[in-house]
Amino acid sequence: MYAEVIVDIASEQVDRVFTYRVPDAFSSMLFQGSRVRVPFGFREKEGFIIRLKETADYDESRIKDIIAPLENYPALLPQLMELAQEIKSKTHCPLCEALRLMLPAQMRGGRVKVKTETCLQLNFPPEMVEEAIDKQGRAASRKVILTALADGGIHPLEEIRALVKNVRPPLDYLIEKELVRSFEREVLRAPESVRDVKPVEDPPLTEEQEEVLLELKSAVRKRAGKNTYLLHGVTGSGKTEVFVRLTREVLSLGRDVILLVPEIVLTPQMIRYFRSRFGDDMAVLHSRLTPGERFDEWRRIRLGQARIVIGARSAVFAPVRNLGAVIVDEEHEQTYLSDHFPQYDAREMALSRVKREGGVLLLSSATPSIYSYAMARRGDYVLLEMPHRVHERPMPHVNIVDMRHELQMGNRGMFSKLLLDRLKSCIESGQQAMLFINRRGYAPFVNCRKCGESIKCPQCDVSMTLHATDHMLHCHYCGYSMSMPGECPSCGSEYIRACGVGTQKVEEEIKKIFPDVGIIRMDVDTTKGRNAHFDLLSRFRARQAQILIGTQMIAKGLDFPNVTLVGAVLADLTLNLPDYRSPERAYQLLVQVAGRAGRGDVPGEVVIQTYKPEHYAIAAAAQQDYRAFFNEEFARRRKDLYPPFTRMARILLEGESAEKVLHCAEKMRDEMAQFLQVKPMLKKRLFFMRADYAPIQRIQNRFRAHVLTKLLNHPDTDRLLEKMQQLVQENNEKTGESGVNAALEIDPASLA
Ligand code: ADP
Ligand code: ZN
Ligand code: ZN
Repeated sequence: MYAEVIVDIASEQVDRVFTYRVPDAFSSMLFQGSRVRVPFGFREKEGFIIRLKETADYDESRIKDIIAPLENYPALLPQLMELAQEIKSKTHCPLCEALRLMLPAQMRGGRVKVKTETCLQLNFPPEMVEEAIDKQGRAASRKVILTALADGGIHPLEEIRALVKNVRPPLDYLIEKELVRSFEREVLRAPESVRDVKPVEDPPLTEEQEEVLLELKSAVRKRAGKNTYLLHGVTGSGKTEVFVRLTREVLSLGRDVILLVPEIVLTPQMIRYFRSRFGDDMAVLHSRLTPGERFDEWRRIRLGQARIVIGARSAVFAPVRNLGAVIVDEEHEQTYLSDHFPQYDAREMALSRVKREGGVLLLSSATPSIYSYAMARRGDYVLLEMPHRVHERPMPHVNIVDMRHELQMGNRGMFSKLLLDRLKSCIESGQQAMLFINRRGYAPFVNCRKCGESIKCPQCDVSMTLHATDHMLHCHYCGYSMSMPGECPSCGSEYIRACGVGTQKVEEEIKKIFPDVGIIRMDVDTTKGRNAHFDLLSRFRARQAQILIGTQMIAKGLDFPNVTLVGAVLADLTLNLPDYRSPERAYQLLVQVAGRAGRGDVPGEVVIQTYKPEHYAIAAAAQQDYRAFFNEEFARRRKDLYPPFTRMARILLEGESAEKVLHCAEKMRDEMAQFLQVKPMLKKRLFFMRADYAPIQRIQNRFRAHVLTKLLNHPDTDRLLEKMQQLVQENNEKTGESGVNAALEIDPASLA
């Protein structure tokens, strides 16, 4: 027998199958999808068996033998191999890179191993143990060992070691006399967040939940017709319970469920919710697991011991055999777009899987992405709605504070009078508050404190960004730059400031005002440790602090019944991000943060501080009126030619030298221009193309530049994308020379 093998080397040149002979000794252990060790050149490499075949199509004598299987089961399921093919054809990556997505990273190169422990058991019927103990005479430690094993069960050596000092000599004696047998047993490393969760009974469903489930349940049974559902449910409408009941239904049909959650922050809560209903039948996959935990969870799924998978975006590749549903919670989150090459959209992968393997895709959000809602409106997805909170809990009351008025009243601080008043009474009544400020690693935007306008690019209608390096304002879209104006272009006032507040500053100020109140801050800096998120949130839940200050990390999904006040310290930070999606992000974030308030018995209140209360994203968020927001935003995208009407694509270049990356970008732009010169029709589909430094010029000491393009959303433009991909490949094949790495990004989550 022969095997077609993809060797695990990410290079264009070896991106094809190689034929190897299957030695007889392994013929019953090797399947399509098995990983093997093979000779390659003068070395040994890992590879994936793509296909087994009876005959070889070329010279017998030149075919080498497979050295050994890496596992005794095929690591790749056929449906995931097909998915990898699809990723390859979409992103033009070598197949092995797409196949790698399907496995825990550490499995490659054998960097993670099955963990075992030594176990002991009596080697004779337990009824005779008394007799055996008597025979040991004065050997007390042997007696202790036998007594501990007297129940006839299996006991880890560690347990016995705790009972007997220097356990080895007496144990070795008992083993030698064949009274005790010792053997290795595999242990599974369980992630911490799933330990100690008590079972909970299903609550009776609300009417809205009932209706939505009726439709979903019939969909999983049908296995035909529309298979994508968009659940638009307000915050606190009980979407999680819908996921639980849908999961139950799918399991009852003997099929498996994948539940994707956007970020690690949400995962602990979701995991506990599911764990309390399904016990061991679930596995978790996310980046904060240790390699060993990840490997073990993956194997539990692969070997059919866990039929529910909860995880971050890469869990869409979980090796469940009989997929019945993929649920995507907070489907609007950009974390579903991967930021590593090969890039994929987990939602798109999920859809591709359910189409191929059967089952339904359920996208869920209180603030659906413009794209998904547009699909639902067009009838491509089925729209399900839950417009009310569980138990008729009211939606929180949202106040908008116009910070321009605060300035006029002489308040130059970062908190309005209203927010401070509400905070005081919240604290006095013993409840909890959350303060949200979305300060990310961006250079600050500049706005006028009198009229509230931010300084915009005259060509792009996105906010200009102040660069500390040259004190100039830059447009991150088109590269336009200008010096900081002396007065506001809109109203002539001189109160133009760079807004640069962040979580740390908020914490400082709050400490001054409320010196005795416990505060927890959550941002990238305070959550570096592996369990830091979990610990901070547990402390807040246990009411060890009354105020939680954080970035978007605290905006989503969290369910703290004692939080009655939520403050958005400066909503404009999101609104003014240099990205065409900033209104969408701002709307989503504000609705999500507001949704954290009033989830318990006491109604919630929200204070949004802004310089632009009239902006449609802020006004709609205050009303929690998604449809109003969608209509405005969709119309704007159409008018200004943004996705989904167009596509944004760029070649991102990274390297150690600033000049080289920029030079490289310029060269690629010129080559593209040349290519288009002879294709006038194609040229018409291109709205603009720029070579420039990327908005974030340097990450981890690597400089970044890009060739940014905006294309018409039209089949023709694929040819342009292919050209870009070709430039990327040519560049990467000689990376050694320039030290510049290139990657093609199509509609990426961030254009930073
Ligand atoms: P969402 O994800 O829609 O914002 P959650 O799923 O977090 O909302 O639900 C909000 C709260 O309502 C949670 O505390 C949840 O336990 C509770 N809940 C959901 N469904 C029910 C139900 N049918 N009966 C009682 N409580 C429910
Ligand atoms: Zn102004
Ligand atoms: Zn511009």
